[in-house]
Amino acid sequence: MASETTATQLDQLPGTGVEPPLIAEADSLNWNDSFDVIVVGLGAAGVSSAIEAADRGARVAFIDRFEGGGTTARSGSVMYAGGGTALQRRLGVEDTPDNMFNCLRHEVQDAVSEATLRRFCTDSPANFDFVTANGTRYSGTLFPNKTSYPVHGHSLYYSGNELIYTQDAKPAHRGHLADGIKRFTAFGPAFIGPLIKSALKKGVTPIRRTRVTRLIKNNNGEIIGVEAMQVPGGWTGLKHKVLSTLASYAQIYFAPAARGYRKKLFALEQRCAHPVRYRAGGGVVLAAGGFILNKEMTARYLPDFQRALKLGTTGDTGAGIALGVSVGGVAQRLGTATAWRFINPPQDWPKAAIVNLQGKRYVNEAMYGAVIGTRMMAENNGECILIMDKPLFESSLANLNLKSSRLVTWMQAKTAVRTAKSAATLDELAARLKIDGQQLKLTIEHYNAAARGERQDEFGKAPGDMQTITQGPFYAINMSVGKGDITSVISLGGLKVCEQTGSVLDADNQPIPGLFAAGRSAIGVASNAYVSGLSIADGVFSGRRAGQYAWQRAQGTQQPQPDATARGTAQPA
Ligand SMILES: Cc1cc2nc3c(=O)[nH]c(=O)nc-3n(C[C@H](O)[C@H](O)[C@H](O)COP(=O)(O)OP(=O)(O)OC[C@H]3O[C@@H](n4cnc5c(N)ncnc54)[C@H](O)[C@@H]3O)c2cc1C
Repeated sequence: MASETTATQLDQLPGTGVEPPLIAEADSLNWNDSFDVIVVGLGAAGVSSAIEAADRGARVAFIDRFEGGGTTARSGSVMYAGGGTALQRRLGVEDTPDNMFNCLRHEVQDAVSEATLRRFCTDSPANFDFVTANGTRYSGTLFPNKTSYPVHGHSLYYSGNELIYTQDAKPAHRGHLADGIKRFTAFGPAFIGPLIKSALKKGVTPIRRTRVTRLIKNNNGEIIGVEAMQVPGGWTGLKHKVLSTLASYAQIYFAPAARGYRKKLFALEQRCAHPVRYRAGGGVVLAAGGFILNKEMTARYLPDFQRALKLGTTGDTGAGIALGVSVGGVAQRLGTATAWRFINPPQDWPKAAIVNLQGKRYVNEAMYGAVIGTRMMAENNGECILIMDKPLFESSLANLNLKSSRLVTWMQAKTAVRTAKSAATLDELAARLKIDGQQLKLTIEHYNAAARGERQDEFGKAPGDMQTITQGPFYAINMSVGKGDITSVISLGGLKVCEQTGSVLDADNQPIPGLFAAGRSAIGVASNAYVSGLSIADGVFSGRRAGQYAWQRAQGTQQPQPDATARGTAQPA
């Protein structure tokens, strides 16, 4: 949901562990080391920033609280790219930057300016080349049909609403999936692993197990470095690595265990870390991810999403956002999140009707799962009940691709078989699920009329995407939050930045000298709504931009300008 919830004070961002800045002249402090550019956080955005600055000749360090990789390393590795990427061309998919723009503007809406979105699309082939030139591989084939989870071995698929926004754009596959081990695709380390290796080869200095706790600025208001708490290497470092790795996997597959690992991890950090200071001549890039694992912030800014699985890794505490705010930056869209309720595969489920407990539909079921999930959580109390008739239920089970080794496909199948409820009539089905029966019958009547082409669907669903629901027994699968399958959520808000340079902007839209932000720590292309791959693609786009301008500043060639393209306005929360 688009939300302009804003924070401009550190105390509006509880639980980040960030302190107010240290104000001092560089010569008055002792530094552990000095660089042109310091990148805080090594996910998609951080690694892109570090490589971009290093490629241009900057002396770069990345600092990561853990081993690096962040949530990017736990992701599905999808990068949303188009406009005629090398992979699209190899697989015979026609696309142009204009075509990509015409489709993507429906998803992105006002998250960034039109000029920035156009640049994102025009630069997309080059950003994909940047990723492959740094070692990430895409050797698979095209998955032609719509799915949320392509079978392994495919490198390109429809990862958003390309088949819906067709009024002024030709559908083109844009979900780029990195090669994993053997035939496995959709595996986060396969995307970011080669990029990290490449950054290290290019001379980027790794500073791991180091949590940045505050920025250092001089009396002119320029950011000149960071202060951090560093866990030593050796046996302690190994323990830290094991605990952080276990916590990050567990959060995604078994969240209660993650809490236990995090507790031990934080205790170890508390016990063993010592303070360090690093100087940045050109700039500090904040690329420390979002805030979905910050309990206090999610309770405050994302109350409707509390019951969904918080999808992130231990570093997603909002520290990057808070570091920016601590020196006058503005955090925007903190109330914006994306929740994921994927219903395809099986391919036939999107032909069914989704209703809430009032028996009302609220979404075009053929849309991408984040559109469904976000409407479900933000506007429908987490209610999502899929209504089918006998032919649709049976065909959907038949087209569940159980040969696929994707665990998630098996989970969908299990949910369908185990939890489906059936009844001879819609009235009885409604009674079994405690849905308003009168309304359900009316909803399905309207749905059937739209499916037969007798009326326009109120959610714009095309008749070709629908199937009538007429033949009993009728089936319902309750996919509401907390029932059966998982509904997950990530945060999308971040620091307001200059869309030309990635500089963090203050409440007057003035750049804070020496401070940049990228990825989920910043407002970007993905900050209004998410489709698969848009966050990583935005990380590459905004990360490279920040790396370039931080380097330019180190060279003394960037004159910070008041920002003309910042979105939104600065208002207290
Ligand atoms: C299961 C799952 C699947 C997903 N699949 C996709 C997908 O396929 N495509 C897609 O586009 N998006 C996907 N997403 C979302 C996407 O992974 C994230 O939004 C994106 O990777 C964020 O990138 P980032 O560079 O901003 O942050 P991250 O990748 O999270 O990196 C931030 C880094 O900052 C570090 N850090 C944090 N605080 C500090 C501090 N104080 N000091 C030093 N370091 C710090 C963290 O340790 C971390 O390494 C998925 C998310 C999940 C959880």
